Amino acid sequence: MNTLLEKIQQITGPNGVLRGADVADRSDSWPPMGGCQAGAIVRPSSTVQVSEILKLCHAAGQPVVTHGGLTGLVGGAKTGPGDIALSLERMNAMEAVDTVNRTVTVEAGVPLQKVHEAADEAGLLFPLDFGARGSAMVGGSIATNAGGNSVIRYGMMREQLLGIEAVLADGTVISSLKGVIKNNTGYDLKQLFIGSEGTLGVITRAVLRLRPQPRSQNTAFVAIDDFNQLAKFLKAMDAALGGTLSAFEVMWNDFYTLIIGDGEKHGKPLGTEHPFYVLLESTGGHEESDGLRFEGALQEAFEAELIADAVIAQSKQQRSDLWAVRDDIEAMVQGLFPPIAFDISLSIHQMDDYVREVRTHIQKRWPLAKMVVFGHLGDGNIHLGIGIGSMEAEDVHAVEHIVYEALGRRAGVISAEHGIGLEKRAYLSHSRSPEEIALMRTIKAALDPKNILNPGKILAETDQERK
Ligand SMILES: Cc1cc2nc3c(=O)[nH]c(=O)nc-3n(C[C@H](O)[C@H](O)[C@H](O)COP(=O)(O)OP(=O)(O)OC[C@H]3O[C@@H](n4cnc5c(N)ncnc54)[C@H](O)[C@@H]3O)c2cc1C
Repeated sequence: MNTLLEKIQQITGPNGVLRGADVADRSDSWPPMGGCQAGAIVRPSSTVQVSEILKLCHAAGQPVVTHGGLTGLVGGAKTGPGDIALSLERMNAMEAVDTVNRTVTVEAGVPLQKVHEAADEAGLLFPLDFGARGSAMVGGSIATNAGGNSVIRYGMMREQLLGIEAVLADGTVISSLKGVIKNNTGYDLKQLFIGSEGTLGVITRAVLRLRPQPRSQNTAFVAIDDFNQLAKFLKAMDAALGGTLSAFEVMWNDFYTLIIGDGEKHGKPLGTEHPFYVLLESTGGHEESDGLRFEGALQEAFEAELIADAVIAQSKQQRSDLWAVRDDIEAMVQGLFPPIAFDISLSIHQMDDYVREVRTHIQKRWPLAKMVVFGHLGDGNIHLGIGIGSMEAEDVHAVEHIVYEALGRRAGVISAEHGIGLEKRAYLSHSRSPEEIALMRTIKAALDPKNILNPGKILAETDQERK
């Protein structure tokens, strides 16, 4: 690797290659804890440099693991001593916002928050948003097709991406940076890289779609006594708010009571006796009429006995206090420690029954176990947090088996947002047919015939990895 790194350093300059303690002090997973094992971290500053580096690595059969903001939650950026990590951290340039076309072209190393700020300054909105916004980069969020809190209204990263530039394993630059919404000129190549988790190419630039800045924002916290009412409430609000519903976050009672605790940190927006709580939000174009419509829709739901109680945020502060309950993942981690976390999708009408089944099996095997459920119900996506007091591989495996077996029987999806990486790899076949996995392997082999890009992520290479 030394000779190769010397050649790479000639391309990047001396600051472009980190070795030894500079590598070990860094992390390659979240939460960051140090201990990156890569042989070196290479930090190109342009697409041309990425291309030249990959040409060399391709010729040498050198494995390359691309690093973005390292906030991914499935071990997709993990490295071993034989890997070179290719970090996009020095590729963080942004072009000016195009306010007419409502687009912005950015390098892949730009953090999401910078895109939010640039859009905001231009009077526009970049709607992809989640807790890791300050660190997660555009490239990493494309490579994981990240979602977040506004998917119900604006879709996932896939829906925000108009054009892409990526470098293939052999150094070929695929530049498809068109800023148009409609483009049916043959295969839509950008789709190959969305959600590919660094296995098909290194994303270097993107054209992102921006939206009009909403002029109104209405937020409520609602209590519901029955899952059927919850599903009806979602449908009713979606219809009554005429396409302006922008968040529908559900918390099962176990999550709400764990986060609220003694009420010291977050107060108690609503009593803790209800089985379900919803944080819902609507954004629109007219402050007064949107507010009236929001209140009216909630009133109707109340009269139809879909909701048991509700509080509407009266100020920006109240809004952020309500969101703080939903976003307090730290309190959840502490309450379950050590938590085993899941990010799954299934159809809404199966959710209640599914959660009950998983809970029954978990409690039967670990009577003291804690389990909390919450998530983006409007997108059919929920998170399960399970604490059994152990992170021994055998125990984690047993929990995973319970969660995924019940999900597989309901044709659910083992990873709604976070991807497969290393951590979900053994369970890919629960959500994908042998034919689908075979086609994934065909695509991987066509784009990366020497298997140098993030080898072993998403697709297992050995029987051992399949277990
Ligand atoms: C607190 C917190 C909250 C989160 N909330 C959400 C949420 O609500 N919704 C959601 O979907 N996700 C969420 N995530 C996870 C989310 O997937 C990641 O935060 C983010 O999308 C990954 O971006 P990153 O730059 O950190 O990528 P990394 O973690 O650096 O990399 C992730 C994967 O992408 C690959 N990759 C990175 N950059 C590139 C590139 N330029 N080209 C090719 N491959 C690349 C890596 O090899 C790796 O496989 C959350 C994470 C945290 C820590």
